[in-house]
Order: sequence, then C-alpha cells, then structure tokens
Amino acid sequence: MISFYPGPSKVWDALPLYMQDAWQQGVLSINHRSPEFIEISRETLRLLHDKLRIPAEYTILFTSSATECWEIIAQSLLGKAKSLHLYNGAFGEKWYEYTQKLTDNAVSHPFSPEELPVLSQLEVANDTRLIALTHNETSNGTALPDRFLSELRKAYPEQLIGVDATSSMAGVHLPFETADIWYASVQKCFGLPAGLGLLICSPKAVERAKEAGENEHYNSLLFMLEKMADAQTSYTPNVLAIYLLMRSLQDRPRIEVTAGEVNRRYQDWLQFLEGNDGLALLIKNPEVRSRTVLPVEAHPEKIESLKKAAKAAGLYLGNGYGPWKKSTFRIANFPALNNEEIQQLKDFLKTYPNQ
Ligand SMILES: *Cc1c(COP(=O)(O)O)cnc(C)c1O
Repeated sequence: MISFYPGPSKVWDALPLYMQDAWQQGVLSINHRSPEFIEISRETLRLLHDKLRIPAEYTILFTSSATECWEIIAQSLLGKAKSLHLYNGAFGEKWYEYTQKLTDNAVSHPFSPEELPVLSQLEVANDTRLIALTHNETSNGTALPDRFLSELRKAYPEQLIGVDATSSMAGVHLPFETADIWYASVQKCFGLPAGLGLLICSPKAVERAKEAGENEHYNSLLFMLEKMADAQTSYTPNVLAIYLLMRSLQDRPRIEVTAGEVNRRYQDWLQFLEGNDGLALLIKNPEVRSRTVLPVEAHPEKIESLKKAAKAAGLYLGNGYGPWKKSTFRIANFPALNNEEIQQLKDFLKTYPNQ
C-alpha cells in the first residue's frame, strides 16, 4: 500500500535500514541524559539548521506534535494576552480554538481559501501579542506566499508572528526570518512516522518567553529552552524518532533541491489534472495554492468509488476534510514519495472511468 494521505504519509524507503541500525547500535535503549543521546540530538539540530536553512540564531526544540506546540505557545508566550488568528481552514481554526481555551483572549479572522487576507484591512489591536497563521492549510491545500509573510513582518514588527508549517516544513524552503515561531511534526513532509514535533523560536520569541516567565509545566517554554541549552529535553523524548530524523536528514540534499523537486512534481500534477476531464484542483487561484497538499475536486459519487478502487489497487488517497469531505480527495506531494509511485497513481487515475 502506498500512502498518498497528507499525513501520516509514506515514509522514506530507507526507513527499515535506519530502524535496523537504531536497534543494532543500541539507540532504542540509550538514556536521554547520556553523551550518546546528546551527540544524536546535537547532530540532528545541526542538520536541521543546515539542510532546512534555519537561521543560526533560531532555537530548535523537540516536542511530541504540532498540537503540543499550540498549547506551549498559548501557555508560555501568551498567558492571558491577546492573539490574532488568521485562517481559512480547519487547522488554523483548531489552533485558534486551542488557544482560546487557554487564554480566553484569542481573536479569529477567517478568510476565503481563494484569497489572501488584505493587510490594510486587518485590525490588529495594540495589545495583540501574537499573530498566528497557517503556512500550509492541510485541509484545503492553500499556502501563504513568501511575499505575504514578509509584508506582514514589515507591517507588524512588534508582534510575535507564529506560523504552523506542519505540512510544508522540509518540503518547501520556508522564509524563517519573516516570523518568530515555526513548528511542524514529522509525519508530513519529513517522511517519518508520527510522534515528534519541532518548535523553532527566533531570539525575539525566546526573549518574550523570558519576559513572560511562565515555568509551571513540564513543557513550559522556559524549561524546554533551559534543557535545550545542553541539547536535551524536559522529559524522556522519542529518541528513536530523533535518530530517524538525523539519519534521514543526512541522506537528504539541502532544502532548495528538495523544494525544486516538489515544485516540479506540483507542475506535473497541474498538467496531468488539466488533461483529465473528471478531476480538477479544488483551489483555483494559483497564488495561494499549496505545493505539498493537493485536494482534487470531482463529483461526490466519483470520489467515493474512486477512493475505493484506488485502495484496492494499493493506493491510499487522503479523504477530503471538513466542508470538502465529500467533494474532494487529497494527494500528498511529499518528498518521500518517489517518481514511480506517483506515476502509478497517475496511471490509475488516467484509466479510472469518467462520470
Ligand atoms: C497535521 C497537522 C497538524 C497536527 O499535527 P499533529 O502532529 O497531529 O499534532 C497541525 N497543523 C497542520 C497544518 C497539520 O497539517
């Protein structure tokens, strides 16, 4: 079965090798305070900075998931301070809801999936501490262009800008310097099994965490930063997942190369879908289209039968999400999928009867 689900998705072909090595090298039993772990942790952080082009002055923290990052940000950077959440889909909305539960001071600003928020019309109250955005909205296949993020940064130099990049980090070249907080989990573009998240903080975000002084939880940002000064975590982390991340990053080129390949495949998908009568991309505006998650629209009856037939052919497609549940299926355009697998899906879709 090849999973085109946009997370958890297909993992790297070399994973069995990495896992075998982990077992043979005793990684599965090492202590998380040992020099052996610290070495793996340091090398993983170095590779993340190097391969993903994360600025040297940004701090990378290990978490368990993107969901945990929602809570860490609210609990350790906001307290009861105001946050403004710009979103056009389910994941951005969830971040808003999780924050609202903790701070009771989150403001939502929904926008249309086919458009970008108009910055001149944005109402950002003076006491807003965080502007929250989803770089790649996995539910509907939209993404924020770099230009938008740099304009937002210029317009709001004081606020913290936080970006959920769960389904784009490691698949596209992110403009890290345009925001203060970035996070992702590894079961999407990183091509790894679920159970590890990354939280990336600018010096300003670290500064604000110190000012806020929140240190009451096992995952308080201050406590995590304190442990990370020695490349460690505040609890026993998923050591295997960190090791797998290290090994897979060692075998990857720099992000520019990966992003180029992802973009080429995206262009190929566009061309393919244009030539296919019964199928079309959900998002019509090319400026806001995701490169890594492609929701495809078709007649709801066709969607149902197509997904079933695909599964029988060993191809696992992503369900539509929320309001698009019945009218779309989603294709992950993640780096771990190889050209032959993508061709297999295209061959299947080409021969699937039109309705
Ligand atoms: C998958 C996803 C999440 C949730 O990730 P977890 O690792 O399950 O917490 C959050 N945001 C976006 C945009 C996602 O795609």
